[in-house]
Amino acid sequence: MEKRVIFLPDETATVAFGAALADACRQACVIYLYGDLGAGKTTFCRGFLRALGHPGNVKSPTYTLIEPYALPRWTVYHFDLYRLADPEELEFMGVRDYFDDTALCLVEWPQRGEGILPAADIALTLVYQEDGRQAQAQALSATGERILAQLAPRQGTSS
Ligand code: ADP
Ligand code: MG
Repeated sequence: MEKRVIFLPDETATVAFGAALADACRQACVIYLYGDLGAGKTTFCRGFLRALGHPGNVKSPTYTLIEPYALPRWTVYHFDLYRLADPEELEFMGVRDYFDDTALCLVEWPQRGEGILPAADIALTLVYQEDGRQAQAQALSATGERILAQLAPRQGTSS
């Protein structure tokens, strides 16, 4: 399946990549965000949310696990599962209800929810590279393929 790799030299580039992916979403989807603390997952989410009309700040919902954003075209659910002790907790929260065909879901630390979280359409991994970051976006479904195919060519190289 399609994979995009892009070098993000600074924070602005991470925000722009988040915006580009948001613009490419034409249907509900689930994006898993991998990367160490400080890799830029939340920065990516800020660009994604801003592009869809959220004007304000974006913080990782580290303690509440999930932050909903009701935006003009989409509802976006931003998850941060870093502090999730047991994937079963997600079951109690009724997490599957968030993953419907009207929502875009961004999930930081999806590893913590393994077995309970619905599958991703795209896995995005951010890794430190020089003073910036490298983003690797891997399509995992037909929806993910369509989204990556929508990205402008300058948003990374395909393989
Ligand atoms: P995470 O959610 O992965 O823990 P954050 O987005 O909260 O990471 O923090 C990332 C930090 O790195 C922020 O200080 C941000 O300014 C910075 N940053 C984001 N993208 C880049 C980039 N492409 N190059 C350099 N620094 C970046
Ligand atoms: Mg974060």
